[in-house]
Amino acid sequence: MFHSIVSNLDSFVSWLQTMLYVDVVQPFLFKVGMMDYDEDTYDALYWVIVGVLEVLTMYAILRPLEALRPAEEWKDRKGVRVDVLYTWIVKLGILNLFFFFTFQPLFDSLQSWLRLQGIPNLEIDNLWPGVTTQPIVTFLIYLFVLDFAGYWYHRLEHRIGIWWELHAVHHSQQKMSLWSDDRNHLLDDILQAGFFAAIALVIGVEPAQFVVLVAITNLMQSVQHANIRLHFGWLGERIIVSPAFHRRHHAIGYGHEGTTYGCNFGVLFSFWDILFRSASFNRTVEPTGIRDQLGAPGIKPVHYGDGFFEQHWLAFRRIGARLMSRRAGASGNGSAAV
Ligand SMILES: [Zn+2]
Ligand SMILES: [Zn+2]
Repeated sequence: MFHSIVSNLDSFVSWLQTMLYVDVVQPFLFKVGMMDYDEDTYDALYWVIVGVLEVLTMYAILRPLEALRPAEEWKDRKGVRVDVLYTWIVKLGILNLFFFFTFQPLFDSLQSWLRLQGIPNLEIDNLWPGVTTQPIVTFLIYLFVLDFAGYWYHRLEHRIGIWWELHAVHHSQQKMSLWSDDRNHLLDDILQAGFFAAIALVIGVEPAQFVVLVAITNLMQSVQHANIRLHFGWLGERIIVSPAFHRRHHAIGYGHEGTTYGCNFGVLFSFWDILFRSASFNRTVEPTGIRDQLGAPGIKPVHYGDGFFEQHWLAFRRIGARLMSRRAGASGNGSAAV
């Protein structure tokens, strides 16, 4: 069944790809004299369509639910629009560019290099021939391995100061909605894509499967960020990350600081948080954001930026400030020792 869903989707996207290509893209390329890029553009169009379909599906399902059962009521939707921009940039541009023009060629050449050196893939799918070689079982194993890595990647984003400054772009949204999943510093996006691509390469995931794995994770992450009062029940909450569970991760004073280390870092599965003692199943709706955005008596609130460029620039400034203060601290200690 799983296989037939994927292949039906694939033929639908391929049909759209050919139609759009013949009617729109090719005449345009011809007009502007760029027919040299003919084949690449045709292939890249596939992922552009996947991206558009993903965004439209997510909007069609989640937006009515946000209107029906909002977790938070807002006076206006100011500040949400920048997340829409992030979504289109990431879903159409960055991921596409990355997968298609960088990841796949790099993947192919690295794989042949590994073969030449006689280094085999881990071939997790061959652990138990007959069982783990079943496509659905192989797929689930890949999902677990990548999600386990995702848990630790996310936890370290909160633990390592410089990295946190990049991730803070994601957490500075005080109106979390179905668009907030892609609100990430682009540098962090690239780091993350490289990290997961490397793991996929080591465990032997095919590029085509990798794209499906990423698409599923992305869709689930859009659900988690939606402004919907929704949990998956006692058992469901302990298996899959729900909007209630992830909202707790964004809650001021809980997700980042929590009981000194933060909580609910799971990306797709919440049981990693149970296993590594970082789970909070408290469903109380708390304001989302970063504590220092609120300010304190005598301390000005920290501004993380309103627009896309400002948010990126301010992250670099915060990283610069951290490095400077670290250096000042180091030289201060040095002189004290002398
Ligand atoms: Zn986080
Ligand atoms: Zn989030």
